[in-house]
Amino acid sequence: MKNKIPTRIYLNEDEIPKFWYNLRADMKSKPEPMLHPGTLKPVTSDDLEPVFCKSVVEQEIDDTTRLIPIPDEILNFYQAYRPSPLVRAYYLEKALETPAEIYYKFEGTNTSGSHKLNSAGPQAYYAKSAGLTSLTTETGAGQWGSAMAMACDFYDLKLIVYMVKVSSEQKPYRKALMETYGADVIPSPSNTTETGRKILETDPNTTGSLGCAISEAIETAVKTDKCRYVLGSVLNHVLLHQTVIGLEAKTALEKYNIKPDIIIGCAGGGSNLGGLISPFMGEKLAGKSNTRFIAVEPASCPSFTRGRYAYDFGDTAKTTPLIKMQTLGNGFIPSANHAGGLRYHGMNSTLSKLYNDGFLEARAEVQTDIFDAAVRFMKAEGILPAPESSHAIKAAIDEALECKKTGEKKVILFGLSGTGYFDMTAYMSYRDKKMTDKIPSDADLERGFATIPQIPQNT
Ligand SMILES: *Cc1c(COP(=O)(O)O)cnc(C)c1O
Repeated sequence: MKNKIPTRIYLNEDEIPKFWYNLRADMKSKPEPMLHPGTLKPVTSDDLEPVFCKSVVEQEIDDTTRLIPIPDEILNFYQAYRPSPLVRAYYLEKALETPAEIYYKFEGTNTSGSHKLNSAGPQAYYAKSAGLTSLTTETGAGQWGSAMAMACDFYDLKLIVYMVKVSSEQKPYRKALMETYGADVIPSPSNTTETGRKILETDPNTTGSLGCAISEAIETAVKTDKCRYVLGSVLNHVLLHQTVIGLEAKTALEKYNIKPDIIIGCAGGGSNLGGLISPFMGEKLAGKSNTRFIAVEPASCPSFTRGRYAYDFGDTAKTTPLIKMQTLGNGFIPSANHAGGLRYHGMNSTLSKLYNDGFLEARAEVQTDIFDAAVRFMKAEGILPAPESSHAIKAAIDEALECKKTGEKKVILFGLSGTGYFDMTAYMSYRDKKMTDKIPSDADLERGFATIPQIPQNT
């Protein structure tokens, strides 16, 4: 018999993860390597170090070391806000009248409001240890910029954030939060970079895109002394830092002998999903479990469900290495009415590989359904979820309702990646029934696909 399971499962000090888990080490079929866009050969650390810190470059390229020790300084940083709560959603189960058991891992308890701080801390720490004095980055919805602003303040580094223009206008409080922590926030495209000026020349009214903000941040990092660029998602080292989510969740569940049948996460660039599922996926790859894994993405930016598996650039200006990933094309920009976050054109390469090898499922949902699920959840559980996280909620509710039909008592775990306090404009448009759904047509997608580079590896 199982013990009665508490609403929150706590971890003892000695149960806190001391290592990050590198899932790639346990994949028999590895993700394709990044390519240098000039030579089309796999990138070396020399190619990446002008842009990124040495330590994260090593982590990015390493696909053989299973466990990577978390330095003491980062364990101390994590201790300020971790472990994050692992919650049994008793009230949601009751509201849904489902026989399923639902659990969620809640990453929204820190001021940045999301899991992003789990990688912001390490990235700022490594930059400081390498003797750098400033960092640049981009932010879309603002969570990553907020997390970096917190981490840079903590480690005494200067930070410039290129914030997608539409989002800096929709979310002035996000901008104010970053500035309060001491960051410089520049709406993108801007006239501070060549890339920005070029884009403004051709399209002065553009609302901006993540891809463009990334290009601006990289340009500034490369041109500034003792400065590097940091990225909050997509890359493997970010996903690695996020594995603290899955490691904590697994330890907590194992204390009560709970084995999830289904694990669900929302997917933008893939870092919270990848961080949550990695340790569980490792067991599945080893044949030790039969867990299903589900990625949930917006129907307006469907890189898994309607994207191509191809080598593409990570940014609009085509400055990054080529990454083999599920992509809508580096020139794809989701419809401006999309308020639910997760707007990136590509997807982490490891998750893309797992998807193409049949280990990871994906589904796309429209934003009005996402907000229905969000409100259902907040009324039951008392937490205002981020729109991004609500993609995972939607799928968790659907799976629980499926159990209600079949009478199965499945165990569902989902990632509640953050809170929605800065997303009230979107909640207001939902409340006022002004929120609409726009699913890109095949022709819209073709325009994006046309921006994927035509290289031999892609044919
Ligand atoms: C950034 C963000 C996401 C999406 O990013 P991933 O790298 O896919 O995890 C999801 N949820 C929240 C709350 C976020 O801030």
